[in-house]
Amino acid sequence: MREDIYKEWLHNRKMYKDSLSADQLFGRILKGDQLALSSAITLIESQADLDRAEASKLVSLCTPFSGKSIRIGITGVPGVGKSTFIEAIGCQLIDSGKRVAVLSIDPSSEKTHGSILGDKTRMEQLASLNNAFIRPTASGSTLGGVARHTRETILVCEAAGYDVILIETVGVGQSETMVHAMVDFFLLLMLSGAGDELQGIKRGIMEMADAIVITKSDGENLTKAKEARQIYQRALHYFPATSSAWIPEVLNYSYQDVVSIQSIISLIEKFQKHQIISGYFEINRQKQAVYWMREALLTLFDRSLAKLDEIKKIDIENKVFIGELSPFEAADILYKLILKNTEDGK
Ligand code: GDP
Repeated sequence: MREDIYKEWLHNRKMYKDSLSADQLFGRILKGDQLALSSAITLIESQADLDRAEASKLVSLCTPFSGKSIRIGITGVPGVGKSTFIEAIGCQLIDSGKRVAVLSIDPSSEKTHGSILGDKTRMEQLASLNNAFIRPTASGSTLGGVARHTRETILVCEAAGYDVILIETVGVGQSETMVHAMVDFFLLLMLSGAGDELQGIKRGIMEMADAIVITKSDGENLTKAKEARQIYQRALHYFPATSSAWIPEVLNYSYQDVVSIQSIISLIEKFQKHQIISGYFEINRQKQAVYWMREALLTLFDRSLAKLDEIKKIDIENKVFIGELSPFEAADILYKLILKNTEDGK
């Protein structure tokens, strides 16, 4: 009897494992199965070596079916209205027949395991729609790790038939650069301030923006928001022209104003047309692919380094610390150890 139970358990475990295999997930993903998509992302986020191998296989299977979406990055400080905006634009896009995936990159989860971008209760209306898929950041990963997962997740979402991928990040720190490097269109959300419009945002982030949206352009805030639009539009003129000659635009928006949401969608369509005609849509993606190849290589290297014997590493670091080894000699020794481990199949 006990043996029967054990056999059944083994059988169930095998069925469960098989259902998470790259081949099985791939078949279901192509059919747009959201459960399979969620499992696939969990696999992509896993740190275990075996899962990594399966995830890589899955991403390779999905890649030929990817690339057909528009990838949109959205950033802005907490409270600017990102989730409200994503819900508004997401619902409208779905109304017009699109399938929308929302992914988030939240660097706060790295340190605190809490999240500036909040929990699943955000975007409830959007989340309830069949053609929406919302995936919050996996907490506890490093920013580099989250970026790689997100990049792979984009490809898998595209294979699952999502035409619009919205990638949300908080406007605090390095994550914008990463998101900018994985999207076609980068949108900066800003609040109108009292005379201090240009403070508090890093010039670098403004330079990356393909458009700026002044949020909460309604009620008592409307006049200020319209002024802010002019100020930002003027400020953008001082920035160097983009290589595709796209001129970033500034728009006012309120979630209460459907027309303002539609104007943003129209602007994104105009941008996409401009990029395709100028050839930059493809060039940008090609450059991004090479960038991600380099990032992936660095990740592999980091992982190999992490696998080296800890005592040996500390010993080498100590020798650098007391000046017995130069940093370059030490790096050389570590590099050779990594190569040796690779040869030994470790
Ligand atoms: P996030 O932290 O950037 O995701 O910001 P939220 O979307 O959570 O919005 C922060 C607050 O601003 C919430 O209380 C929203 O209701 C409010 N808000 C967002 N968009 C608008 C808008 O267009 N007009 C007004 N008046 N309030 C808004």
